[in-house]
Amino acid sequence: MAQVKLYDTTLRDGMGGHGMSLSVEEKLKVVQALDALGVQFIEAGFPSSNPKEAELFGRLAELELANSTIAAFGMTRRGGVAAAEDPALATVAESFAPVVCLVGKSWRLHLEKVIRVPEPENLAMIRDSVAFCRSAGKRVVFDAEHFFDGYRDDAGFALECVRAAADAGAENVTLCDTNGGSLPAFVGEATAAVVEALGEGVEIGIHTHNDAECAVANSLAAVEAGARLVQGTVNGYGERCGNANLASILPALQLKMGFDVVSEEQLASLTATAHYLDELCNMAADPDQAYVGRNAFAHKAGMHAAGVAADASTFEHLDPARVGNDREILASELSGKATIRTQAQQAGLELDEEAAARAVERLKEREHRGYHYEAAPASFELLLRQEAGSYAPLFRLESFRVTTEKRADGKVETEATIKVEVDGEHYERSAEGNGPVNALDRALRAAIVDGHPHLADIELTNYKVRILDETHGTDAVTRVLLDSSDGEREWGTIGVSENIIEASWEALVDSLEYAFQPRG
Ligand SMILES: [Zn+2]
Repeated sequence: MAQVKLYDTTLRDGMGGHGMSLSVEEKLKVVQALDALGVQFIEAGFPSSNPKEAELFGRLAELELANSTIAAFGMTRRGGVAAAEDPALATVAESFAPVVCLVGKSWRLHLEKVIRVPEPENLAMIRDSVAFCRSAGKRVVFDAEHFFDGYRDDAGFALECVRAAADAGAENVTLCDTNGGSLPAFVGEATAAVVEALGEGVEIGIHTHNDAECAVANSLAAVEAGARLVQGTVNGYGERCGNANLASILPALQLKMGFDVVSEEQLASLTATAHYLDELCNMAADPDQAYVGRNAFAHKAGMHAAGVAADASTFEHLDPARVGNDREILASELSGKATIRTQAQQAGLELDEEAAARAVERLKEREHRGYHYEAAPASFELLLRQEAGSYAPLFRLESFRVTTEKRADGKVETEATIKVEVDGEHYERSAEGNGPVNALDRALRAAIVDGHPHLADIELTNYKVRILDETHGTDAVTRVLLDSSDGEREWGTIGVSENIIEASWEALVDSLEYAFQPRG
């Protein structure tokens, strides 16, 4: 079976999406999730010397990946400057990444209006830059920016540009619909012309944007015309209307078009991965998203549901299990009894049949209220521990109070007071903080640290708040996700409440409880 490779560009193109902001830690988690999904290439961005990017590339160089190859992103050399003299190109060539993606122009309009170089110089810029990276030992993907607009305007020149990259040693030439306005029939036709013109010597890729709501369709049309690498982002993150959504492209390629992309098991992790990435990026998962959305295989009671019960193919375009999704309306990735028992085993817990059934019920009820355990495995483990009967509470809360005072001079002061019982002893502690959650965390730690000194070393590394169901305004439910670390391990916990302090408290308690549970 022919192979098509995926090239994820979340960490570069995807970062242009509205509200996208990721720390280095979060970017590394994105990379690991994409690697587990089996994505062949991950573009990490431009390896510049700014401290955040330098740290990211430093950490990536040490990361062991099972399936993915890291690509560094850069541009062809500037006009009138030798490739070896272009500092940006040198940075890309010097990075550890084995693959370099070079973007270059292929539309005359951009030569005239944007970079102002004559056509022969543009061809030389492409040729020199690809050759320079090849001589530095890099594999090169050439992204022909605005290719489809360029091809519409002057097909001959657009083809000369991609040919220059192929002749200079690029292993892949990717055709970009940068403005996202092209339609599938044209993309198919233009891609077929490039495949025909460049022949066997170079692989063709496709990179589309969703401005005409055709990014997925355009990618598939290009593959049908001979493209064998698809660039995009899982969930379609990206500037304006987004990039091509790999979460839709992957199952279409593999299950409908018969291409070999990832393993069956990896494909079955697609839904969980897509939701996890939404949590990492602090995006609300779209319930109606194709293939992976909560409603993608949810049937209304009545004729549809009866039809599905008789034969699922009557109302479903594919078996949801193949992409890791579920048929039931409120069910989730985790909610099968068998899955729950496997999860328990992984945490070293014994769950009998009855306890597993109870855990499933609790999970469904909690998910209905807005809990989402994909990004909070530590809270999930605590839930399983409670059902397995191997849960020891760290302390008993008697009460807490948090006050925030803002004064006329603009100063804001927050103080928390807490009363708890730990191992039969009563403690009352107060602490100030830079906000209510911080003050509460400090007061709680002060109260329990005598009995459990190692809990002092736990650091809260990330705190994310999401308002669920924003249409209800202030009655909306708040979901808090908290990441903690003890320097060796990291774990995520969750809290949900109409009250943000209560939701934060719940996630905070889970974090400390998780660290306290015996394991081995
Ligand atoms: Zn793009």
